[in-house]
Amino acid sequence: MATTTAPDRTRQQIDRLANSNPEWTVWLALWDTTLDAAADPVWSVAVDDATLAPSLATGAPRLTGATVPVKGRDAAAWVRRLVGVAAKRGAGAGGSGAAFGEAGDRLDPVALIEASINQDAARLDALASTAGIAPDALAALAQFAAAPLLHAFGRAIAPGVANDWDEGFCPVCGAWPAMTERRGLERARRLRCGRCGGDWGNAVVRCPFCAVAGHDRLGSLVPEADREARQVETCAACRGYLKSLTTLRAWAATEVALADLSTVELDLAAIERDYARPETPAVALGLRLTEPEADPAPGRAGVLRRR
Ligand SMILES: [Zn+2]
Ligand SMILES: [Zn+2]
Repeated sequence: MATTTAPDRTRQQIDRLANSNPEWTVWLALWDTTLDAAADPVWSVAVDDATLAPSLATGAPRLTGATVPVKGRDAAAWVRRLVGVAAKRGAGAGGSGAAFGEAGDRLDPVALIEASINQDAARLDALASTAGIAPDALAALAQFAAAPLLHAFGRAIAPGVANDWDEGFCPVCGAWPAMTERRGLERARRLRCGRCGGDWGNAVVRCPFCAVAGHDRLGSLVPEADREARQVETCAACRGYLKSLTTLRAWAATEVALADLSTVELDLAAIERDYARPETPAVALGLRLTEPEADPAPGRAGVLRRR
């Protein structure tokens, strides 16, 4: 029997969603482009050469204070490609991509990726204003711009840190969870990061946003048609919510954002009842992207410098 790989599944899902929801075409085209770019070795080389803090305080995501060498040239090529897709698709569909056009040339690509990974909203606003792009449109684009590097970090780091992690935010990149899986026959509760694919569970079921536990504060909204399979976990203490789906197997990192997109009706149900996703990030990562030192030998690879 032929096995379906995670990239195949993700692409099939993109096609399915584009057919059933034409209004998502621009978003899906950007995600498709992002998955393609994520396979580019420039991102894994950057991750190999990154400097992570050797000993971190318990409870700090792994990327806190990281210094990551990314060539300005590579970042520029990637952001230009993304802006091109947004402008082309958006202009036709009347979506946010129409806001870009030549403004993309005035964007600082390295600053864009760095601010996006750090979830630095003030800096993203400043970049939007410098480039003459609507802040909302740039914020949306910034998530795609950071994704290939975040996914490379997720692949490299996530397997090592997730097991004993007991915080509400992602152990790799510090984002709040995008979704919960109730996975497998035992319905194991796993929090998932929509940015890097981070995958972790908490020892005690509690609100990831304010750490409150207990049945008197935690509840769930269940849309009638779906009963068990799709729910919204709610917290009466902070009014936060998290969408929760039963799954047979773990989502690939690339599938989390698609699951988030395709359950927008659950967001509407939660927002209608005055629940909201947190407005501020869980942590200040303070990650920096730097231009790598010029290499004397041609054809240098990250592995040559590793001990
Ligand atoms: Zn993450
Ligand atoms: Zn809460």
